[in-house]
Amino acid sequence: MPLIVAILVLAHGYYKAHERLIIDHFKQSLLLAVSVGERELNYFIDTRDREFKQISAAMSRCDRVEESASERALWALRYTSGFSAMILSDNQGRTTHVELSSNSSNRFVLRQEVEGERLLSADSLAELRYRYDEWYRYLPQLKASEQQKLSELNAMASRGEVNSHRFRMAQQQLFDMKEVLNSPYPVISLSEADNAKKLGLPFSGSTLLFSKPILGCNAELLGYYTAYLDKTQLEDLLFIMKQNLHSNGFAEIDVTLIDNGTGQLLIPVRWIAEEPMKVGVMQEFYLPALSMKYGGMVASRLIERSQQITPVSHLHLDDDHRIDEALWPKPKPGVQLVVFISKKELKDLCDWLLVKVLLWSLLLVVISFGLILYLSNHIASPIVALRKQTALLAAGEYQESDFKARTDEIGELFQTFEEMAISIKSKERQLTALATQDFLTGVMNRRAFFSTAFEEHQRAIREGGTDITILMVDLDHFKQVNDQFGHKVGDQALVKLCRSIEMLLRVEDKLGRIGGEEFALLLIDSNEAQAIDIAERIRSSVEAMAFDEIGLPELQITISIGVSQWLHDESFETALSRADEKLYMAKQAGRNRVES
Ligand code: GH3
Ligand code: MG
Ligand code: MG
Repeated sequence: MPLIVAILVLAHGYYKAHERLIIDHFKQSLLLAVSVGERELNYFIDTRDREFKQISAAMSRCDRVEESASERALWALRYTSGFSAMILSDNQGRTTHVELSSNSSNRFVLRQEVEGERLLSADSLAELRYRYDEWYRYLPQLKASEQQKLSELNAMASRGEVNSHRFRMAQQQLFDMKEVLNSPYPVISLSEADNAKKLGLPFSGSTLLFSKPILGCNAELLGYYTAYLDKTQLEDLLFIMKQNLHSNGFAEIDVTLIDNGTGQLLIPVRWIAEEPMKVGVMQEFYLPALSMKYGGMVASRLIERSQQITPVSHLHLDDDHRIDEALWPKPKPGVQLVVFISKKELKDLCDWLLVKVLLWSLLLVVISFGLILYLSNHIASPIVALRKQTALLAAGEYQESDFKARTDEIGELFQTFEEMAISIKSKERQLTALATQDFLTGVMNRRAFFSTAFEEHQRAIREGGTDITILMVDLDHFKQVNDQFGHKVGDQALVKLCRSIEMLLRVEDKLGRIGGEEFALLLIDSNEAQAIDIAERIRSSVEAMAFDEIGLPELQITISIGVSQWLHDESFETALSRADEKLYMAKQAGRNRVES
């Protein structure tokens, strides 16, 4: 159990670390995508700015007065590749002329009649008017500045400073001034949603409009011209960004543009369209922020729309001619590039990671269990077996073990244990013999005989009253034997007597030495008559005993025997003393006889 917990804790840690890595990978991919996208979009918009400057230059030519504004518009469009159309409108914003570019996206466009319609929004119109008025108001000052810059340059040229850094700087400033003098800054706005459709252009939704006033040769306001950004090129750009993310393994993604001022989605997409963003939340996209609020991770960058506008302070006007910056249009916020990866994508990856981690953990658990099983078989179970063997040995038994066949240390341990057990058993046997045997004759000693008698009596009662008869045997005039032949011969005679008696007994009969030269017998399952018969045979066999082998043919011993039936309801001592009385009677009656 602790092992499983440890593995699970380990697996959890591993999963969490990898989950972090996956999330980091997502974040990094998103940030990289918006960074690269920002660069490409800026480049795209900058290029459009440059193109629009060329359009402005073409539209503000006063040297060819015979050309109409619509003819100039046609020429102007030829300088560009990023605009789909130009519309000319009058002072009130009513369309007077439409010119379509020869971009490949316009190949199948059906020209629509929109003359007289107001395609510019009221806001754009007001902004254009305001910028024109401001520009016109400061025109004399600008012209004076230009003159001053010119004379400055002439002075430098006359001093031969044409190759100096200062001269080149002044030249650049003059060039910038001329651009500002030519026309006011453009107004870049979002077209109204159905605007492009009205013109028959091949894209839906809003596109960026670049507008400026049409000026007469005396800087009078004649109307406005507006270039429509070719949105298909923007869409292509975003498509390539999306493809890049696809090739990095992301499937559930969106790449789109959101107008920073209105929160309007410029290019409809799958995920973000489902939960349209509000203008308020746009604030957080000014930074490359990441958010999980929209059912996935979002990263965005602001692409400023009016980067081409050079603040007036950059024109290095002299103090007398410095124009209050606040009067000039400030760069407007642009569009947000938004890259989105769905939470589902993240979840799929994490789910797969979870499955992988679980499978590995399972494998680890299985391997660990295998190892535990192996170890327990090899080490733990022999120890358990050894404990059982020890307990058995303590209880006086011994069982052989299979572990002793092993060739390792466990096998050796069991081998040694067995040797020890055998040695203990043999010592035990010796001790038992010492405690129960008579050391001279080898028959039961008095104590063992008494306890055997007790057990036999119990069994006889259990078995339903088997007869037991007791015989008391005493050597006749044994003192004389000792005296005549020596104590050693007496001992030999005692041993020989026992062997001779044993020859006549059955296995179940018991013989014990209960005194110096006194013996007793228990004849199991024998009644008194049978016992007398056996006693008689014993007596006569002793009488016939010869001692030739020890060189004493003249030695002869006899015994007297008292016989008594052991009644079931009496004690051994009582039965034995009755047998003793009979023995006494045999002695009295002349010895070498059986009395019952
Ligand atoms: P009785 O016929 O009346 O029995 O005469 P007895 O001489 O046998 O008399 P008693 O039974 O009183 O004497 C026993 C003798 O047995 C005394 C002792 O010297 C002898 N004896 C007892 N134990 C041993 C023994 O272990 N070895 C030898 N050699 N003699 C023993
Ligand atoms: Mg005696
Ligand atoms: Mg005797």
